[in-house]
Amino acid sequence: MGKRGKAAIVRERNKPVSVEEVEVESPRRGEVMVKIAACGVCHSDFSAINGTIPMPPPLVLGHEAAGVVEEVGEGVEEIAIGDHVAIVWIPMCGRCRYCVEGRPALCDMGAKAVFTLPDGTSRLKDREGKPLNHYAGVAVMAEHATVHRDNLVKIGPAIPLDKAALIGCAVMTGVGAAINTAKVQPGSSVAVFGAGGIGLNVIQGAALAGAEKIIAVDLEERKLDFARQFGATHTINPGSAGNPVAKIRELTGGGADYAFECIGIPEVIAQTYDAVHKGGTAVVVGVTRPDATVTLGTFMMPFQEKVLTGSMYGSARPKIDFPRLLALYQSNRLKLDELVTATYSIDEINRAFEDMQKGVNARGVLIM
Ligand SMILES: [Zn+2]
Ligand SMILES: [Zn+2]
Repeated sequence: MGKRGKAAIVRERNKPVSVEEVEVESPRRGEVMVKIAACGVCHSDFSAINGTIPMPPPLVLGHEAAGVVEEVGEGVEEIAIGDHVAIVWIPMCGRCRYCVEGRPALCDMGAKAVFTLPDGTSRLKDREGKPLNHYAGVAVMAEHATVHRDNLVKIGPAIPLDKAALIGCAVMTGVGAAINTAKVQPGSSVAVFGAGGIGLNVIQGAALAGAEKIIAVDLEERKLDFARQFGATHTINPGSAGNPVAKIRELTGGGADYAFECIGIPEVIAQTYDAVHKGGTAVVVGVTRPDATVTLGTFMMPFQEKVLTGSMYGSARPKIDFPRLLALYQSNRLKLDELVTATYSIDEINRAFEDMQKGVNARGVLIM
């Protein structure tokens, strides 16, 4: 049968997003169609518009959403029509070596579903019947989406879907980087470079983990205000304060225990590495351009035993982590309401991206 509905499409890089009616094919074996209720506007969507994340147009955006199941494909027993679900933007097969090791964010199947479903095909057609690519294999900046069963986590019906949507990217990526990847310890010191949607969630993850000092670094005063609201104990604006590394060393007595790069700029990755003390952990969360490289002094590496690591999707184990994060929200320990500072209709998507670039919002959310 399929369904028709609006979707936000990148037709051409660096041009406004086009909102068009598309046809969403019914789920095939192992797939599910979701009526999307809300979709977060993430910087990674914008990165597909400007080509930082090179997903080929024509591309339906969106990877941070929640909704209600409206059709279920053959062989899917664990999900039924009417279930509330949050989108996971990497399908996790449960069988590859990474899934078996308990690191499903690194799943081999997930690495294949970049702009199609895991089988390499699309479920989306435009008005002329031409196929459209799926951002991150999901394409949920749309009224309907057909996705693989492994891209869904069932959630409680009482949780507002516009809040649940954010668990799927910003919250999982940020809180997960602090708690799963770095395993921030109580009483520790943490520096966070970039206080956008991801950075704010690293900050609240560090606060949940009991970090004593949380230092947020950003060039925008408004984002530093958000950072304080999410648990930052100190803020640095390098625009006025100068070198943030010197300032972090001063505040922490020699360097932070953990530092996180949440922007995707090579020079800032180097600062993140420099900002931790001997034995400290520097975590790269931001996505740079594909050809970017970073230069680090090597002489001191053996003497300092620092750890430099990436964090993919907050080292997510969605079937465990999403319910835990939502339980923390329901007990008022995880800030989701405060994260949504503006809502938009899908027709207002270009204004939502403009606001994102201006740093107006903690997170903007499209309500379908
Ligand atoms: Zn995202
Ligand atoms: Zn796997």
